[in-house]
Amino acid sequence: MLGALGAASLPGSAARSLGGARGTDPLREIGPAGASSPRAATGAELDDALRVDGARINGHLAQLAEFGKNPQGGVSRMAYSEADRRGREWLMGVYRDAGLAPRIDTAGNIVARIDGTDPSLKPLVIGSHIDSVPEGGNFDGDVGTLSSVEVGRTLLANQRRLRHPLDIVCWQNEEGGLVGSRIVSGEFPMAELEQKGTAGKTLREGIAFIGGDVNRFAESRRAKGDIAAYVELHIEQGGTLEARKLDIGVVEGIVGLYHWDVEVTGFANHAGTTAMRGRRDALLAASRFIEMVNHVVTSEPGRQVGTVGHIEAYPGAPNVIPGRVRLTLELRDLAVANVERLYARIVKEATVIGQRSGTRFAFTPTVSHLPALSDPRIREFIRRSAQSLGLSTLTLPSGAGHDAQSMARLGPMGMIFIPSVGGISHAPTEFSKAADITNGANVLLRTVLALDGWGA
Ligand SMILES: [Zn+2]
Repeated sequence: MLGALGAASLPGSAARSLGGARGTDPLREIGPAGASSPRAATGAELDDALRVDGARINGHLAQLAEFGKNPQGGVSRMAYSEADRRGREWLMGVYRDAGLAPRIDTAGNIVARIDGTDPSLKPLVIGSHIDSVPEGGNFDGDVGTLSSVEVGRTLLANQRRLRHPLDIVCWQNEEGGLVGSRIVSGEFPMAELEQKGTAGKTLREGIAFIGGDVNRFAESRRAKGDIAAYVELHIEQGGTLEARKLDIGVVEGIVGLYHWDVEVTGFANHAGTTAMRGRRDALLAASRFIEMVNHVVTSEPGRQVGTVGHIEAYPGAPNVIPGRVRLTLELRDLAVANVERLYARIVKEATVIGQRSGTRFAFTPTVSHLPALSDPRIREFIRRSAQSLGLSTLTLPSGAGHDAQSMARLGPMGMIFIPSVGGISHAPTEFSKAADITNGANVLLRTVLALDGWGA
């Protein structure tokens, strides 16, 4: 039932399967997964012995937590706030201390490159972000950013030259909608510059505030095929790894996210004089709709989620039968086809509810983000890297958005998850254990080495 969704709601869903077939293959020099003798000529003994300094990463995490610290124990380090600017300055000091030479690109991202031995190769890119939501935690983004810098430091300190250039990135304003990474991937519409962020500045003001240049975004843009691979380490932000006592999540992809505004039209009338029979109560129909959405989404196996998160009833008076209700519908899944099927079922069931209650349901698509699948070969590198360190793994989707989905438009993408205690995130009580952070950083290091050395 593709037609019910319409082209506007799922643009190009069939044509743009990220991580799927490509015209050019940036990983071609790495060779197909399953080829034998990785890292043949690059000193396998040295690579096996290489480890990040986990204590240093965790020490840096504690220092970064001072910028935007709030009484609840978390941080409010929203993009373009003074805390964000000062945190980024501190981070550039950590880069320099690691022997890296950070610069701010015109998009406002912090980037440092370690040159590779083969100038013909495209860069491997690693990184994350350090901005937070209001009253956020100390691990979302921070873990991946500081671990990426540590990976660079470990390579430099051990004089381990990669064949590829390695770009170590701190993306600006991830929480405001992947702003820095979308500028690089070419998905950022300039009209968004006038929107206001959580720190009170427009994006235009904010990007200038952190050292970017809105008139020179083109210099930071990358085209499809410009990167060899992108890998991001991140906290899971859900409770699956912890509940199953597993060390490392191998991310299958970032789920697609779709929103609709739903309007239910009934007939507003006197709540005292209108008999119960024959009422056309839009709020009653809406309540049946909410129950039905939950039923439809849970009636099939899989990890799809569906939510009604907002509702307004009109006229909204105790003595008037609600004649009109506005609510939102959100569906998320890794497979567009699943979302289309669930949506079609929901529309069908809503029609039945409408017929029985004398109301009408109208759906308007508002938000549509395609799923971004990770590259199967990178998943395999992550899995093997974890196993070689004695760590257990689970393949799972990411229900949250990440800068990795922007990078998936440019080349093969992979993500490494570590457990979030209690599955809590975007809250001051967000927490990941020091040992898990160290594990994640070592898996990132090994994955970078594997990506660099495969087939060499
Ligand atoms: Zn994040």
